[in-house]
Amino acid sequence: MTKSGEKKRIYLSSPHMSDEGYEKAFIEEAFATNWIAPLGPNVDAFEKELAEKVGVKAAVALSSGTAAIHLALKAVGVGEGDIVFCQDLTFAATANPIRYQGAIPVFIDSNHTWNMCPLALRKAFEKYEKLRRKPKAVIVVHLYGLSADLDPILEVCREYDVPLIEDAAESLGSYYKGKATGTIGDLGIYSFNGNKIITTSGGGMLVSNDEEKIAKARFWATQAREPFRHYEHKELGYNYRMSNVLAGIGRGQLKVLDERVKKKKYIFNYYKEHLSDLEGLEMMPIQDYDEPNYWLSCIVLSGKVKPIDVIEALEAENIESRPIWKPMHMQPYYKDCDFITLQAHGSVSEDIFTRGVCLPSDTKMTDGDLARVVEVIRGLWGWEYV
Ligand SMILES: *Cc1c(COP(=O)(O)O)cnc(C)c1O
Repeated sequence: MTKSGEKKRIYLSSPHMSDEGYEKAFIEEAFATNWIAPLGPNVDAFEKELAEKVGVKAAVALSSGTAAIHLALKAVGVGEGDIVFCQDLTFAATANPIRYQGAIPVFIDSNHTWNMCPLALRKAFEKYEKLRRKPKAVIVVHLYGLSADLDPILEVCREYDVPLIEDAAESLGSYYKGKATGTIGDLGIYSFNGNKIITTSGGGMLVSNDEEKIAKARFWATQAREPFRHYEHKELGYNYRMSNVLAGIGRGQLKVLDERVKKKKYIFNYYKEHLSDLEGLEMMPIQDYDEPNYWLSCIVLSGKVKPIDVIEALEAENIESRPIWKPMHMQPYYKDCDFITLQAHGSVSEDIFTRGVCLPSDTKMTDGDLARVVEVIRGLWGWEYV
C-alpha cells in the first residue's frame, strides 16, 4: 500500500536502470568532459558495443527507432509512389515512415508465429507481379520479442530480389536460429524508447553488415552536411542523431541486457506455470527456432473471459496491462491501403488483436507482484479455479 492507501502500481514495462549505476557513471563522464553535445565518445562507443553484442558490422545511433526505420527505407531507395510490403500486426511506428517517404504500404497478415506469414508475403508478390509492380522493400517485425520465421521470408525476398528490413524495436536480445534478430535481413532497427527492454529515455539504432548504407544513413541523420568547411548540401538531411548524454545511458543499459532478458523470461514462465491450466487461456507462441527476449508476456483468450475483463480487473487493482497492437489494416489512417491475407474471412492479425492481452512484464516486479497479477486473473475464472 502507498501513502494514499492505493495498492502499489505495477507497470507493463518501465525503465530499469542498473543497480550498479553504470548509466550514471557514463553520464557523469559526459558532464565532466562537457561532452553534452554534439555527438561524442559515448555515441561512438555505444554504436561499437551494440554492434559487437548483436554481431553486425556497422551501427548508427539515432534519435528514435522510428527515425531508424525512416533511414532504412531511404537507404534501400524507397521514394515517392513506391510500394513497401509491411507486417500488418504491429505498432504504427513500423508503417508511418513508409508514408514519410511518400511511398505506399501494403499490409501482410501474420500466421501462427504472430509475425509475417511467408505464404501471405508470396501471395502479395504474385499479386503485384501481375500488376507489374515490384515493391522496393519488405518490413518484417519481431513482435513482443518473438522472432519472425525469417528463413522462408528471406527466401521469398531473395527470389524477387527485394531487400528485407527487420523492425527489431521490441526484440533486442532475441535470437532466431542462434543469430540476433535485426542482423539477419539487409538492415535492422532497434528502439530504446522508455518501455523497451533497455532504454536511453528515447533513441534508436540502425544496423547492417552493409557499411556503406550505414555511412549514408549517418550522413543523412547529420543534416546531409557535405564534408566542406562551409555548409554545403546536395541532399535532403535530417536531425536524427543521438545525443552523447543519452548514449551514455545506452552503454550502461547494454551491460544489463542479458540480465533483463533473464528476468523477462522468468516473468513469462511464472505466468505460464500459474495460468496455463485456465480454460481458454494460452500463452503467446514460442517457436522451436526462437530464443525470445520475452519483452512482454502476452496471452490469448478463447473462452468466456474476454481481454477487456482482464484489463479492467487488473486496472481496478492498480495493475497496468494492454490490448495487443491494433492491426494496421484496421486503422482509420491506413483504411485505403491494400491488405493481403490467406483467410477467407477476417485475418490472423485481427484474431490475435481481439483475443490478446499484454500482461505486466516489468523487470522490477517481485514474486509478490507476480502473485498479485495471477490472483486477479484467476479470480475471473471463479472459485473452482482459485
Ligand atoms: C517502439 C517501436 C517502434 C518505434 O520506436 P521509437 O524508438 O519509439 O521511435 C517501432 N516499431 C515497433 C514494433 C515498436 O514497438
